[in-house]
Amino acid sequence: VNTTAERIARHGAVFRGATIITGDPRLGIVIDGDLEVRDGIVAAVGTGLGTRGDEVEIDAGGTIIMPGFVDGHRHAWQGAFRRTLTDADLVRYLAATHAGTAPHYRPEDMYAGTVASLLGALDHGFTTVVDFSHNSRSSAHSDAALQASADAGIRVVHVSAPPNSGEWDHQWPDDLERVAAAASNAGGIVTVRAGIDMNRVEPAAGIIRRARGLGLGVHIDGVMGAASSLEIIELAGEGLLGPDVTLIHCTALSPEAWRAIRDAGTEVVLATVSDAHLGLAGGVPPVREIMALGLEPGLSVDVEVSLAGDPFTQMRSTALLQRMLAVADSHATGLPVGTLLGAADVLRFATSSSARTAGLGGVAGTLTPGRAADLLLVRPSGNTSMPVVDPVGTVVHGIDRSEIDAVLVAGRPLKWEGRLIHPHSDSLPGRLMASREHLIAAAGLPADLDDNRIRQYVSTHV
Ligand SMILES: [Zn+2]
Repeated sequence: VNTTAERIARHGAVFRGATIITGDPRLGIVIDGDLEVRDGIVAAVGTGLGTRGDEVEIDAGGTIIMPGFVDGHRHAWQGAFRRTLTDADLVRYLAATHAGTAPHYRPEDMYAGTVASLLGALDHGFTTVVDFSHNSRSSAHSDAALQASADAGIRVVHVSAPPNSGEWDHQWPDDLERVAAAASNAGGIVTVRAGIDMNRVEPAAGIIRRARGLGLGVHIDGVMGAASSLEIIELAGEGLLGPDVTLIHCTALSPEAWRAIRDAGTEVVLATVSDAHLGLAGGVPPVREIMALGLEPGLSVDVEVSLAGDPFTQMRSTALLQRMLAVADSHATGLPVGTLLGAADVLRFATSSSARTAGLGGVAGTLTPGRAADLLLVRPSGNTSMPVVDPVGTVVHGIDRSEIDAVLVAGRPLKWEGRLIHPHSDSLPGRLMASREHLIAAAGLPADLDDNRIRQYVSTHV
């Protein structure tokens, strides 16, 4: 138990003397700045702030205070299989997870994987995760994922979606309304959206109409190629695209589909590393289209089964790939190099843009007074990150998890003095391994998931 962290959670705090990257275009970067957290929100940002009542005074000299990162989408239920398939392609990923272990998940496996992935996200500096939970095999599975979200304490956008394979209760999408009510009755910071992936229990149009009827936004995963392009144009024609619909990946879409996305104000979340590493529909993240249309995408981790789970990999990979493609295009055509993504761009994508694509625009993503106190205290290491001349460049290209000293979500410290504060973090590894062993045994798979049986399944089913 950390008493300072507890006092901050209860009474609020004033952090003094930090370099504050507000992420708010009107406030910019405040040097030697103070930030007041009160009642879960950013109460004030400036210099020489006073203190009200019993707020905790924190000397934040030498730190960078910035908005927490927002993961635009991941599948937290797969947490027990992190980095099991680091060299996988899309087919092998689908085989091992959706066709292999997913049908054998019990609610407690949903809980263990989800809480592990969410706590890892917190440690990496994410204050919000869009958890695309597409293994909702029963109501109890959804409830377990919601419980894990509440227990982790991080802000979660729970995207409720049916499983992609195997036997299940077929309670979805009827169960959506109950899931949304359960999250809202819990009174916490978990919100719910509807998720559409490979298993179309009904056409996307029906799900979007149903979600809108419940006041829920929609995330569509696996958006890629010709079939998705046609679907996007069709949905646009029916008035079913819009800012409440978020499309994930968006690789190899037609120019017509991109125009429909732009015209409808539909949100786009990149999964840069996932696209390129797993090879989704050509493997080129749509950074050219994003730049050409002037879109502001979110960034996302996607599958920890194969990929890194931190925000720095997302920001660096997105900047790297965009710059590489722009220079390569110029070299091939002889035309001038177009606009290049900079550190400030990808930092914005990873914070305020990702928050907006998650349905949290105006709620999180910047340190604007009145918004949620979802923030990081970064303590740049003397050995690896000094001198800090450009704090944005330092945050994007320099720091790592070990330099994230504190993570606050809704004003509550969940990481403090470099360590996660969580009642279950000690018992978690054991719980996770027990879940993993059950799933491997139930699926009849070897521990490395390298099995001809799942390859055969893929060749006939996927
Ligand atoms: Zn995904």
